[in-house]
Amino acid sequence: MDERDRAPTGSFFGPRSHCHWIESAGIEDTVPLASLQGDQAADVVIVGGGYTGLSAALHLAESFPERRIVLLEGARVGYGASGRNCGLALPFITGAEETVHDLVDEGRIDEARKIFEATSAGIGIIEEFVTKRGVDCEWEPVESLYGAITARHQAKLEREQRTYAALGLEATWLPENALRQRIDVAGYRGALTVPGSTMINPAKLATGLLGLVRAAGVEVHEESPVVDITAGKTVHVRTPRGSLRAPMLVLGTNAYTHHLGQNLGFLRGRVFPVHSFSIASAPLTDTQVAALSWGGRQPFVDVRNFFDVFRLTADNRVLLSGGGGFFYYGGAAMDEKGHRDYARLESRFHQLFPALADVPITHRWAGHVGTTLDMTPTIGAFGPDQNILFAGGYTGHGVTVAVLAGRLLRDIVAGEPIDSAYDFVLNRKPPRAPGEPLTSLGFALFTRYLRWDDAR
Ligand SMILES: Cc1cc2nc3c(=O)[nH]c(=O)nc-3n(C[C@H](O)[C@H](O)[C@H](O)COP(=O)(O)OP(=O)(O)OC[C@H]3O[C@@H](n4cnc5c(N)ncnc54)[C@H](O)[C@@H]3O)c2cc1C
Repeated sequence: MDERDRAPTGSFFGPRSHCHWIESAGIEDTVPLASLQGDQAADVVIVGGGYTGLSAALHLAESFPERRIVLLEGARVGYGASGRNCGLALPFITGAEETVHDLVDEGRIDEARKIFEATSAGIGIIEEFVTKRGVDCEWEPVESLYGAITARHQAKLEREQRTYAALGLEATWLPENALRQRIDVAGYRGALTVPGSTMINPAKLATGLLGLVRAAGVEVHEESPVVDITAGKTVHVRTPRGSLRAPMLVLGTNAYTHHLGQNLGFLRGRVFPVHSFSIASAPLTDTQVAALSWGGRQPFVDVRNFFDVFRLTADNRVLLSGGGGFFYYGGAAMDEKGHRDYARLESRFHQLFPALADVPITHRWAGHVGTTLDMTPTIGAFGPDQNILFAGGYTGHGVTVAVLAGRLLRDIVAGEPIDSAYDFVLNRKPPRAPGEPLTSLGFALFTRYLRWDDAR
């Protein structure tokens, strides 16, 4: 069996991700950028080569071309969640939807629109990278479908529909028979069409951003995991073969932040790595796509807490993700072959698409979602000297939000006024978990509650 057809066996940061996206972007087939060597100084150090770190690097480099900006990535750029996600660029920062719904219910439509537009601004930033700056990430504007299994889910979607209508956007409720003419899947009572979303190849967005970042003069080192950070007016950052000191540090480490030094207590226990597993099939033929009535290629997200997502890739593979949401003791990265969620996803694939019984699953991979206890991100300046910038905890919604966060971090550095629509995420410390074993126990209980809630 080809190595790429096997489920992952090693750590997250092993040589192969087994991820369709990372493979399609050729990340593992290229020579890594040189790692950091020796002791050096910079104006800004950025840790993490996902969308957050890359977007911050790009925006900072273009605003401050005179500064020496160095980005350190522990593995390969795009090797974290940014290269492994489902590639849905969706509206809203998590945590803003309820506010917008409430404002609409109260008839405060202009305020609702302002928050909707501000928190969805990441879509426009990515679109600009694609249309004006040559980033090729298989950008595909498309109608998304949000599916309902129970009557409660349907009621939730009807509320969303009212919000979109109030904002002047078209969202249509499709009962089951109409849904099955868009995608012939069983088990859903209907779906809402969601405007303004787009499919991308997530790993290609990361490599495209890397190209822009390097062209803007940022020095990027891969295979340079930061093993220690000392805060202070000058921040010291150490990797296995080098070190950097700089007056400013940007942490784009999101779900992995808890592994960083003892001296970052202000961030510890606030952003958690929740595992999400994905599978991809071999490419479908045009006949198979047509037999599923899936010519419109709409991605589908169901509205459970532990939701399933499925979509077609550019080469017509079916990608199926989600359902799980596993937290392991101490925030460990688990990526074992034969994880029970791969089996669950495969059985779900056959349940959703019985006509694809003979289509093999070729890729299985794990990813880390950075999440917070109150499911709301944080973006801001932290540390005793307020010179450690951090953004993360996007709770599974980070494609657009991470890119937007990079721009907001630049605005913070530049001292530019920031729209009050972002107040709910700016400079806030998400609630802190109590530490092990209580954190794992709490997650286990919360997971049971969410599963109970999903079944209602
Ligand atoms: C399976 C899955 C599906 C998802 N689907 C969607 C979706 O469809 N739509 C959506 O909006 N969001 C989705 N998300 C969420 C989205 O992918 C993330 O929110 C987003 O990619 C976060 O980007 P980031 O740069 O903050 O983090 P990451 O992409 O995780 O980047 C962090 C980087 O930091 C590096 N790093 C960590 N520690 C160190 C260290 N010590 N030293 C140096 N480097 C280090 C890592 O290697 C990594 O490259 C999904 C996430 C997953 C896991």
